[in-house]
Amino acid sequence: MDLLIKNGIVYDPINKINGEKMDIFTSNGKIVSNAKDPKVIDADGKLVLPGGVEGHSHIAGGKVNAGRIMRPEDGRKGIEPKGKLTRACSGYSVPNVYATGYRYARMGYTFVMEAAMPPMAARHTHEELIEIPIVDKGAIPLLDNHWMTMECVKSGDMDKLTAYVAWILKATKGYGIKIVNPGGVEAWAWGKNVSGLHDRVPKFDVSPAEIVKALSIANERLNLPHSIHIHCNNIGHPGNSETTLETYGLLSGVENSDRQVMHATHTQFHSYGGSNWGDFCSKADEVAKYVNAHDNLTIDLGVVMFCDTTTMTGDGPHEFNLYKLTRRKWSNHDVELETGSGVVPFVYGAKIPPHAIMWAVGIELPLLIDDPWKMMITTDHPNGCPFTFYPQIFALLMSKKKREAMISEVHPVVNSNTILPSIDRELGWNDIAIMTRAAPARILGIDKHGKGHLGSGADADISIYDISPEEVDPSRDYAKIEDAFSYTAYTIKSGQIVAKDNEIVAVPSGKTFFVDPEIDKSLMDAMLPDLELKFKEYYSINLANYPVQDAYVPNPYKISTKGA
Ligand SMILES: [Zn+2]
Repeated sequence: MDLLIKNGIVYDPINKINGEKMDIFTSNGKIVSNAKDPKVIDADGKLVLPGGVEGHSHIAGGKVNAGRIMRPEDGRKGIEPKGKLTRACSGYSVPNVYATGYRYARMGYTFVMEAAMPPMAARHTHEELIEIPIVDKGAIPLLDNHWMTMECVKSGDMDKLTAYVAWILKATKGYGIKIVNPGGVEAWAWGKNVSGLHDRVPKFDVSPAEIVKALSIANERLNLPHSIHIHCNNIGHPGNSETTLETYGLLSGVENSDRQVMHATHTQFHSYGGSNWGDFCSKADEVAKYVNAHDNLTIDLGVVMFCDTTTMTGDGPHEFNLYKLTRRKWSNHDVELETGSGVVPFVYGAKIPPHAIMWAVGIELPLLIDDPWKMMITTDHPNGCPFTFYPQIFALLMSKKKREAMISEVHPVVNSNTILPSIDRELGWNDIAIMTRAAPARILGIDKHGKGHLGSGADADISIYDISPEEVDPSRDYAKIEDAFSYTAYTIKSGQIVAKDNEIVAVPSGKTFFVDPEIDKSLMDAMLPDLELKFKEYYSINLANYPVQDAYVPNPYKISTKGA
C-alpha cells in the first residue's frame, strides 16, 4: 500500500531538512516524490523522522543467549503476553528475539547492528537474527584476537591478512571488522590480559597497537563500507582515558574521503581518570577535545543508566574483573582460535560513587563533542542499560533542568569528579535526529543503501512521534520528551505500518546486511593452505562446515565492495 504522511514536522539531516512542515510519500517500500491513491496518515503536529538506526547493540548470538539462560529473573521481568500478531515476549535487559524486534520497532527503530559476532558462532547468530522480527540488521565479526590475524601481524603479511578478513566476511556473512581489547582476549586464554597498547600477547608476540593498525590496513584495502570498530584496551579501569587517546592516535593522519577510519565504541566506558576507585573521575573533556580536533574518528556513547542489567562482551578478562566486584553469576567462554566472551549481571546504583560518575560521563561526552555527526547515541545494550532507556537519555541531552533534577538524586561525587553540572548545552531536535538516524547510518556506511534518511529512493523506514517541536520546549517540558520517544504514533518499515500507538500491527521480516568484498584470486589462493592447516590441526570443525549457508540469511542485503 502506498502512503502519504501529511503535514508532519520533518527532520531529515542527511537531506538538510531541519524541522520543515511537509508531506512524505511512499510506494513499494521506498520514499517517492508522489504516489497514486495513497493511504493518508495525518501527521499534523507530529514529529517525523527517518527510522532509527541502532549502531551498536547486543541482540543475538552465544553471549546474549548465555545472558538469557543465566538470568531467569530477568526473563520474568520483561514478560509481555502474546498478542494477536505477536509472539510471547520475555526479558528486561536480555529480551528474547521477539521482544527485541517489537521493542525497537515500537520505539521507532528500524535497523539494528549486532556489534560482536564470534566468527565460529556466526551460524547461531544468524539463526537468532532471522527470528528478530521487523527490523533490518547486520552483525560485525570479531577479528582481532584471532590466531590467523595475529600470525599475519607477526609476519607483516598484509596480503594474507586482507585475504583472510575477506574470507571471514564471506564465510560469516558479516558486516565489518570488530576489535575487542586487542590482544587481551587471547592473553586471557593464559589467565592474563594486556595493560596497554605495547604489551606483547603471549605466544604470538604482537602488540595491541600492531593488531589495530594491521586490521585498519585490511579494512581500507578492502574498501569496506564501515571503518574498523574498536572496543579499546583497559575498558572500565580508572585512568583508561590515556589508553583510549593513544589508541585514537594510532591512526593519526590516516584518512578516507568517504568516512572515518576508526569507530571507537562505548566511549563512556573508556573515558576515565584517576588511579583507583577512590580518585576515579571523568576525563570526558579530554576525550571530547580529541574528537573535536580530528575528523577521521567517530564514537558511540555506551550511556549508563541506573538499573539492574546484564553485562556481556567479548572482553573476557573485563568480565572477570566485574565478577570479582559483584560475586554474582559469571559466564566465561572461549571460542577456540578466535575470541572469547563473558557475561555478568550488574546493578548500577545512583548512590554508588563510581556508577554516578560513569552515568555523568555518558551524558558529558555528547554535550562536549561539538559535531553530532561524529557520534551515535548508544547504551551498548545491555551493558550500560537496556535500549529502552533511550527516551530518558534524549531528555537528559535536551534539558539542563532534567539533568539538574537527576544530579540532585545521584551521589554528590558527580559535582566534584565530573563537569556535568557546569555544562549548559542542550541538544535540539535536529541533533537527536542526527545522532540516532543520520550519523549512525553514515558511520556504518548504510546511508548509501537507503538507510537513515527520507530522500527519494530511500527505504520507507519512518517514525512518527506524537509530539510537536513547534509547541514543546524540550528544555522545560522534558517529561513530554520522555513520553513521546517511548513509543511512536506510527512506525513504518519498508512502507508498511508495523507499529501504531505502542501496538505491533504487522510483523514483516527484516533484511540482513552483509559485505562481500572482492579480493584478488591469487591472494585468496595464497592464504587458503594456511587456513586449511589451522582447521586440520586445531579447529573442532571442518573448514567445509564453517561458512554460513545462504539458507541462514533468507532476506539478504549484500554490499559488494571493490578493493583498492
Ligand atoms: Zn558492545
